[in-house]
Amino acid sequence: MRYISTRGGMQPQPFSETLLEGLAPDGGLAVPEQLPTVDAETLERWRALTYPQLAAEVLGLFATDIPREDLARMTAAAYADFPDDVVPLRSIGDGIALVGLSEGPTLAFKDMAMQFLGQVLAYVLEKKDRVLNIVGATSGDTGSAAEHALRGKERVSVFMLSPQGRMSSFQRAQMYSLDDANVHNIAVEGVFDDCQNLVKKLSGDLDFKREQHLGAVNSINLGRIAAQVVYYFWAWLRVTDAVEPEFRDGFEVSFTVPSGNFGNILSGFFAKNMGLPIRRLVLAANENNVLDEFFRTGIYRPRSAADTHATSSPSMDISKASNLERFIFELLERSPERVVGAWAELDSQGFFDLSAEQPRFESEFGIVSGTSTHADRLETIRSVHESTGEIIDPHTADGVTIARSFVEADVPMLVLETAKPQKFAETITEAIGVDLDFSPELQQMLEAPQHVTEMADDEQALRAFIEQHALR
Ligand SMILES: *Cc1c(COP(=O)(O)O)cnc(C)c1O
Repeated sequence: MRYISTRGGMQPQPFSETLLEGLAPDGGLAVPEQLPTVDAETLERWRALTYPQLAAEVLGLFATDIPREDLARMTAAAYADFPDDVVPLRSIGDGIALVGLSEGPTLAFKDMAMQFLGQVLAYVLEKKDRVLNIVGATSGDTGSAAEHALRGKERVSVFMLSPQGRMSSFQRAQMYSLDDANVHNIAVEGVFDDCQNLVKKLSGDLDFKREQHLGAVNSINLGRIAAQVVYYFWAWLRVTDAVEPEFRDGFEVSFTVPSGNFGNILSGFFAKNMGLPIRRLVLAANENNVLDEFFRTGIYRPRSAADTHATSSPSMDISKASNLERFIFELLERSPERVVGAWAELDSQGFFDLSAEQPRFESEFGIVSGTSTHADRLETIRSVHESTGEIIDPHTADGVTIARSFVEADVPMLVLETAKPQKFAETITEAIGVDLDFSPELQQMLEAPQHVTEMADDEQALRAFIEQHALR
């Protein structure tokens, strides 16, 4: 399996090569030359596997340049600290079940992919005898998932920029309590976009990037997308465990995915195209609903950072969805010229118009969408708590809100639980008047000494810091 660019300007590359790159050299995103396919017989063979074993099988279809036994060792290590079933499913009634993706160290679904990425990056760097200095910007979940996955690893270090005073105390503690020598927390005087701009300036300086061995683990990283495909297969297998064997072949389920950068749902789109019987992929947006607008109308109009609302499901507060290009590529019959044409249209007029293709979104790809608001979120947290005693986080609540309007008779609706409520305790208190309990481990983390370097919004200062601390 080799990988090409959505914009046509990259020599086909193996999986391990695309892992170390951010954007393709032509500005596009890496996609498989051809998606692997999985037949009903293979699905049945996978039924008896544990989650790490299944992950090795699914990832083995993407990472054909890595021996299967090495992959199996890495997936076992990646999910060793998760509960036994790694991804538990639980029903909340009305035909809806939650797929628990937040059982990892930072209580959000980013751990599912990042824990594998930490393993495979260390492995590939060892093979290539290289080092990598990851530079990233975070408004919360991504940074902590990356740091927890890469802490203590040889050959890789992390420089994570976060906006000073803009994260919750929980998010700060999750990152800043780490004291590993290869983790560098940098609190920038500014907002998230200032952090992001600093990262872009450095990675745009190709000489500096090469000299300092800079890399990224952001949401366009293909290793993350591939690792997320696994849990769609897992969820289907667990649902169909309860179905009579003769009815399993082709048994359809739907998924609802709380979405921001279009990474998580893109993995579901891959799973469906690989042959997993997925009826619908329901995209749930919050008030920052550029993607809902696109899937309802075919018109994609990203917003400026200034027009991005700060909401109570903050991990979905995005103004442009960096993974959407991979969907557009498939939609436009894998034509790089048409992909480039869409972006040119966007550059010249602020939006692109694919309304002629819009009917295919549902008929061909099964994708539908909806928008949830702060009031919906609170009401859903309340109603789920009342009927089941379960407390769900605000992002998952956006998912459940939208899922309810797309439930169909006899089609199980699976909502991806993208975070644990403890991460967003203030909103839970607002919704149901309950102060959440924290486990002794979380309590200890919240009280631990914090390690962070404060820095002005200053490119030169950041360069100097990296030059001083980077691995080489
Ligand atoms: C990152 C994140 C999302 C959005 O996922 P995308 O892959 O960016 O669409 C949703 N919920 C939570 C809790 C997240 O951390």
